[in-house]
Amino acid sequence: MAKAKVRRSDLKPGEVLCTYCTGRCCRYFALPIETPTTWGDFDHMRWYVMHGRTAIFVDGGTWYLLVFGDCQNLMEDNRCGIYNTRPQICRTYTTDNCEYDNDACYDKYFESPDQLWEYAEAVLPPKPQPRKKAGEPNLPTLPMLSS
Ligand code: SF4
Ligand code: SF4
Repeated sequence: MAKAKVRRSDLKPGEVLCTYCTGRCCRYFALPIETPTTWGDFDHMRWYVMHGRTAIFVDGGTWYLLVFGDCQNLMEDNRCGIYNTRPQICRTYTTDNCEYDNDACYDKYFESPDQLWEYAEAVLPPKPQPRKKAGEPNLPTLPMLSS
């Protein structure tokens, strides 16, 4: 039977929540990005998620690029291998509002290019179609090599 997860409220004085965690905060990073307003912006985000192990989410009105990947210093027992010299961003992060027990629910979450495109279609004006010049062939053009 699976072991029940220790709750924050179960911690005894002096105990650290991270002792019971699988190092969730060391397995990704997220960067705030500009709120997308154009087809070009959505096209960029589409490209981000084409790389895999990435997602876009919106939390509290801010858009983020989420990149999954374990920190190279995370050890098999889920402790930090460079605790005394860990980066400042790790030092300032606290367990107060960490993701130990959150359900990773965001206002919006996109993990595929199609999801982003569908959302863009719902919120943006129709995508402008490239205008065809008179007499222009319908076939795609290929770059020519000069001799
Ligand atoms: S700060 Fe929170 S998410 Fe990170 S290792 Fe500690 S308990 Fe887990
Ligand atoms: S340096 Fe240590 S605390 Fe910071 S993300 Fe990596 S394993 Fe986690």
